[in-house]
Amino acid sequence: MTLDQIKALVRTVHDFPAPGIQFRDVTTLISHGEGLAAAVRHLSERAAASGAAMIAGMEARGFIFGAAVAAQLGLGFIPVRKPGKLPVPTIGVDYALEYGRDRLEIDPGAIRPGERVVIIDDLIATGGTALAATELLRQAGADVSHALFVIDLPDLHGADRLRGAGLTVDALLSYP
Ligand code: 5GP
Repeated sequence: MTLDQIKALVRTVHDFPAPGIQFRDVTTLISHGEGLAAAVRHLSERAAASGAAMIAGMEARGFIFGAAVAAQLGLGFIPVRKPGKLPVPTIGVDYALEYGRDRLEIDPGAIRPGERVVIIDDLIATGGTALAATELLRQAGADVSHALFVIDLPDLHGADRLRGAGLTVDALLSYP
């Protein structure tokens, strides 16, 4: 399946979660067996080329693609979680959202120092989420130099912010 065919499976929902926002909904992509498999295959090829030793994905949609890529490559998966979800002592990073703040947490014991961890999420918008995940994984000793997304919204310059933090950024689809 080509990237254009994958793109045709993403649904655009107008005015969600707020008026004026065009939400790129990947639930229609993941409900399509061939589409999901193709997206995971394309991401896996790129993750393998980047020398990934582990995959990290952000709650919640990053879990879907990230865990599937990790399984396809026979690598471990690190869940980057919303606060209060992990049952062990965590390290966390607070970050700004468009309105308000949020926090991500990981189990620092999930990472061996110097291990190359590739970040995967469904979509990059402003880059705030991926930057917070990068900071957190680096705090735990990971070598974070690649981030992969199904979708990039280049007008919001998130990928540029990640590149400024020293990452190589790649996405299967973009919506300018
Ligand atoms: P950022 O932190 O880059 O501004 O926002 C990216 C995060 O918000 C990702 O974790 C992503 O799942 C979610 N997100 C923001 N906008 C959209 C959207 O239009 N579609 C989807 N599927 N996720 C979005």
